[in-house]
Amino acid sequence: MALLDNLLTLHRVDSQVRALSTRVESARTYFNAQERQIALLEKQKGELETQTRQLQASVHALEVEQTAATDRVNKLRGELNNSTNDKQYKAILNEMKVLETQKDEIVKRAVDEMQRVEETKKRLEVHIATIAERRKIRELAKAKLDECRSDVGERLAELQAERARAADLIPDRDREVFDRVANLTEGQTMSEVTIVDLRHREFACGECNIEVPFETFARLSSNAESVIQCKACARILFLAEANRGGGEKTKEPKAAKSTTKAAGTRSSSAKGERTQAEIDAADKAKFEKTRKL
Ligand SMILES: [Zn+2]
Repeated sequence: MALLDNLLTLHRVDSQVRALSTRVESARTYFNAQERQIALLEKQKGELETQTRQLQASVHALEVEQTAATDRVNKLRGELNNSTNDKQYKAILNEMKVLETQKDEIVKRAVDEMQRVEETKKRLEVHIATIAERRKIRELAKAKLDECRSDVGERLAELQAERARAADLIPDRDREVFDRVANLTEGQTMSEVTIVDLRHREFACGECNIEVPFETFARLSSNAESVIQCKACARILFLAEANRGGGEKTKEPKAAKSTTKAAGTRSSSAKGERTQAEIDAADKAKFEKTRKL
């Protein structure tokens, strides 16, 4: 098989490998996103729990303070009854007033803090419900990922082996070009040259539509051993089989041709001669084709 045919085979398998890998990859990305979401929600839940505990402790401290103030007021009330002079009586009464004001203050603060405890608890409840929902979504994502892995796993392994076999048929240098372009274009490595107008020798890259020079068309038409990249999008250009070597006319001697081609890859000089001969033949064929148009 000619180099470009081998590259097309590699391209076909490479695309399948990429499509399957992408399926697994996107399932994994989705699952990981769920994991991260849950971790974040758990962290926030922890913070809310700490906040609740701190507020409860603060409410408790206020209660203790209030009890102490009440005890002191009760004690002062007893002292008030036993007071012996007016000055003492007034002093006790004054302290009791101050304590009552303080108690009111404490109660007000305690009410505020208890309200905050309630609010925080409510937020915590919402959070716990959200986490439960998220966990369900994560389970689904996990099931989807597992299913995807088992569905794709075997087929992917087969395709990867097939890809390796296809890649083995291609010389190192050309394979490096292929891999580079494949990564650059996410697997859209090959581009068919389209004939815009044969009579006016107008050709274009099938992928990016940029003009392809006639010389490139002529080279691709005469042999399928040249790796020529599109000047604009870097894809490896090829011609549809029907457009190679002048079309149907050359279909019959193809078998013989491809064996010479195989030999040609090993000897550059032989390849050079053959290429020139083929270019001439192809040009002639094209000329005939053009006349028919
Ligand atoms: Zn292009």
